[in-house]
Amino acid sequence: MTEKKIRTIEELGEFGLIDHLTSGISIKQESTHTGIGDDAAVIDHGTYYQVVTTDLLLEGVHFDLVYTPLKHLGYKAVVVNLSDVYAMNAAPRQITVSLGISGKFSVEALEEFYEGVNLACERFGVDLVGGDTSASVTGLLVSLTALGTAKKEELALRSGAKAKQLICVTGDLGAAYMGLKILEREKQLHAADPEFQPELQGYDYVLERFLKPEPRVDVLLALKEAGITPGAMIDISDGLSSELLHICKASGIGCQVYDERIPIADETKEAAEEFQMEPLVAALHGGEDYELLFTVPLSDYDKVSAIPGLSVIGNMTEEDGKALLVGNDGNAILLQAQGWNAYSPEK
Ligand code: ADP
Ligand code: MG
Repeated sequence: MTEKKIRTIEELGEFGLIDHLTSGISIKQESTHTGIGDDAAVIDHGTYYQVVTTDLLLEGVHFDLVYTPLKHLGYKAVVVNLSDVYAMNAAPRQITVSLGISGKFSVEALEEFYEGVNLACERFGVDLVGGDTSASVTGLLVSLTALGTAKKEELALRSGAKAKQLICVTGDLGAAYMGLKILEREKQLHAADPEFQPELQGYDYVLERFLKPEPRVDVLLALKEAGITPGAMIDISDGLSSELLHICKASGIGCQVYDERIPIADETKEAAEEFQMEPLVAALHGGEDYELLFTVPLSDYDKVSAIPGLSVIGNMTEEDGKALLVGNDGNAILLQAQGWNAYSPEK
């Protein structure tokens, strides 16, 4: 008898596992425009597209309630989901929220969570239209689904990039990761000495970027006003490197970005210095910034340059799947995805 080889999930990684499990799926519905592989699935409703995206957040894996207030968690859970809708250049309309709740949570604690959910719904004009609630054996489990709509001519897929297009990024990168590092450091110091009072003053910017991310709907509006339709677009949840590679792979081309053009806030640089870390590493691989990464035609250079809070960091190239980071000296290195991977051994 031949033994069937049992593989660990770690061998495939998160994206490899998704590819492996879903590779045999064939689309049966004419209305399924885009299935697995983008920030959201796209359903063709004839006169417009509907987008749908879902996220799962687990206590101890995606969030730590030691330093995450439940109101912030509720807000962030919605925002992270909406960010995927915005990354399709779509407008979010409805969400559903499902919870698995262990016995340690009080009604008051869950009310706090919903305060955050409601605040985000108000702010971004979406309706909470359903969900599911169950007991969980341990910890809190949060699953959100967001629905949105896009005009057919405005939809931005990961596959929409063309060679020579400019690569733009909103805001600055790496801040959320440094916020997380600070919270983890203070948590560990507190665990080692319960008398220790966490010292979080002076870190407001990076902490806020981690605990209370904001989707870049403002930039989408500015692009619309300037008459720019992005080619490809993705939100930066796993780090710039990983997202650039997604765009390259989906579009079947390559890219080159210049390290000195990658936007990093001074607060992020200062925090990185404390950890003796290269700020660029946080920007490339940190994740959770929820900024937008997108491409625009070369001819839109003047228009995008005029939009505040946008950086042009490089351009798409003909080279299939090759993502290059070009240094000051002109030397280039190949970018690798080292984004968040729950199945990697070091996590
Ligand atoms: P994001 O980081 O933007 O939330 P993911 O990396 O989680 O996206 O997912 C990548 C793609 O794989 C998406 O199209 C998503 O819908 C799909 N996907 C993720 N997990 C599964 C699964 N278990 N079964 C089917 N599709 C999945
Ligand atoms: Mg995404």
